[in-house]
Amino acid sequence: MNERVAMQAANPRIDGRSIYLDHHATTPVDPRVLEVAIRMMVEEYGNANGVENIHGEHAARAVAEAKEQIARSVSAEPDDVHFTSGSTEAIQLAISHAIATHRSPLRVAMTRIEHKAVIDTVVKAERMGLVEKSWIAVDDKARLDWQSLERVLDEGVDLVCVMAANNEVGTIYPVQKIAHAAREQGAGVLVDATQAIGRMALDLDEGILDYVVLSAHKIYGPKGVGALISPGFDRSSIYGLQGAHHPTPNVAGIAAMGRACELMELEGAKESGRLAMLRDRLQERLIALVPDLTVNGDKASRLPHNLHFSAAGAPNEVVLSRLRGKLSISSGSACNAGAQEPSHVLRAMGLPDALLESCLRIGLGRSTTLGDVESAAILIGDAIHDVRMNFSGASHV
Ligand code: PLP
Repeated sequence: MNERVAMQAANPRIDGRSIYLDHHATTPVDPRVLEVAIRMMVEEYGNANGVENIHGEHAARAVAEAKEQIARSVSAEPDDVHFTSGSTEAIQLAISHAIATHRSPLRVAMTRIEHKAVIDTVVKAERMGLVEKSWIAVDDKARLDWQSLERVLDEGVDLVCVMAANNEVGTIYPVQKIAHAAREQGAGVLVDATQAIGRMALDLDEGILDYVVLSAHKIYGPKGVGALISPGFDRSSIYGLQGAHHPTPNVAGIAAMGRACELMELEGAKESGRLAMLRDRLQERLIALVPDLTVNGDKASRLPHNLHFSAAGAPNEVVLSRLRGKLSISSGSACNAGAQEPSHVLRAMGLPDALLESCLRIGLGRSTTLGDVESAAILIGDAIHDVRMNFSGASHV
């Protein structure tokens, strides 16, 4: 591997770039993952569909190995792994498949804090008359309201959509328990494990889920590759024509995703322990530096690399502009047509406008150091202080 590329991959801050703490948005590719991708592009570049020669055979073997590595991380069978361009496409395929294989309209229940990739797909399908949707409520920490789930299941549901962990506030969901409750009522289950995979124990009973979606770029793999893991999935049942011919697989991306999952399997628990300690340190420093700081989400059960907070009186877009070029963090809410929408997650949690408008999301990652966290606390503390002084008088300082 080119030495500069390898160094850059090992240390994303080379070239004096901003400290990167936005790992919920995306992660840098791990050099060990990059090595696999480069090998598959430059040395073992055969067509995985053309196994009549040794090059094709090696490529096909790499795809099969990636399926095993990915399946292992969610207690599934390798044959049930279907590659996509990421979680969004996997979600769209899963919902399309459920629509195509169930009664019409498909009755879909989803939590109010699902990713927009789920919500927008279901809403669009409803507009097309293909789906009847219902919502599952959450509480002020974004925890699932179990009574709301039971009510919805009693009314009759074909598919329950629930994320394993939330991409904004990091709250973790009991997917195994939810899946059993849904199954008892005859409903299928789609789990969006995009943010959770490798970062927490999923402990799933084999075959309990109908659809699981994953994305490589959230776990130090490349962008543009993901997977739908589903025992009953078959592309041809969606449109009829898809599946008539198998497209040439993105072998480099697929093999890289397999390696990324394998590394998460091997190192995820240790990494999560380290990141949770750094996150707790950052939280402690911010609470000390920023008066009236509110930590959002479920502090007792959240992703280890997540910290989400609000600093009333400091609009987040102004704070982010102060941090631009020095520290990369985000508001965490969806961006629609170039404009930042108020977070639907925080709205579902019932947070007041002052906390909604001032929320910031931090996602720590594999290359994050204690020094990064100490610097980030000071940068954020100073930016919020400055914004509060200039935007809302001295009421918060
Ligand atoms: N689901 C969750 C929970 C996410 O965080 C994301 C991305 O931010 C997606 C789905 C969409 O993933 P992708 O970027 O792979 O399409």
